Amino acid sequence: MTFAWIVMSVAIAVPKPGQRLPYVEHCYVLGSTEPGVTNVVVQGLNVPVYRTGAWAAYVDVKEGDNTITASCDGADGHSVTSRTFRVAAKPKPRPKPDSAATASSSNSAERVYAKLDYAADEARPHPYDRNPGELTVVLDPGHGGPTDLGCVSPHGWCEKDANLLLAEAVREELSALGYNVVMTRSDDRAIALYERPKAIYANGADAFISLHHNAPAADRDAGKIRYAAVYSWNPIGEALAKAIASRMDETQKAELKSNGAMHANFAVTRNPEIPSCLIEADFITHPAGEEAAWDSDRRARLARAIARGFSDWHKGK
Ligand SMILES: [Zn+2]
Repeated sequence: MTFAWIVMSVAIAVPKPGQRLPYVEHCYVLGSTEPGVTNVVVQGLNVPVYRTGAWAAYVDVKEGDNTITASCDGADGHSVTSRTFRVAAKPKPRPKPDSAATASSSNSAERVYAKLDYAADEARPHPYDRNPGELTVVLDPGHGGPTDLGCVSPHGWCEKDANLLLAEAVREELSALGYNVVMTRSDDRAIALYERPKAIYANGADAFISLHHNAPAADRDAGKIRYAAVYSWNPIGEALAKAIASRMDETQKAELKSNGAMHANFAVTRNPEIPSCLIEADFITHPAGEEAAWDSDRRARLARAIARGFSDWHKGK
């Protein structure tokens, strides 16, 4: 019997012993065992095991060292494993901001709207009258490289890899519709966040689509949270996000809840002149979302929906 462990922290799951978490009172522990084994017990409590063997437990933790113990019975007998990690001390409450601090933090709203220093001011005219072959789309597979893994699935699969697979599938579908496609990365490499939209200018592109897979906050039950969403920030991005979300919903209605088109002020969605959006295709932290992201047929269906949504946006549907 083998167990794989991942302890979720606030930000990124790091699947190694001795992990240090920020101060949390509970954390989400994910692991996997052999498919078919269902009697996993973590900290004395039975936990849900999915049919891939992935399991999920929500546990209380304390400041300092914690040891989480999991056991199960399989074909080769009783198996017990444990994982030790450290939780940081509770931070001291911050002093209340004085009025000067409040004034400067309200100015941060302006900073938030500030354009990228290499972007132009005016939104470009919508390309209704241009042929697909005259349009270039930048696809941006989120994360990448040795340290920016994105979120991690119950079996230790990294978001950066799921994003790249999805982007390659979308590239194929957009190319089949006649569009030119540029990728911010086509292998596993690190790219700084603010470098990513530069590909728009370097290639004279007309739209920017960032592809991601999602993870819940550390205090939420990763075994229960799963949905798709397409984020944008300004009206030109929103039109693109809505067109893509609508095709994704049509394709996935029966399999995945959708939050549709939403607003988010991400570095890659803020562009004032180029329609930009960020797709959170699924939650790979949910065992069913992980399984879906592995499924190449489902990935091709999703990629086709994204490309059709782009085409709908282009034609003003
Ligand atoms: Zn991501």
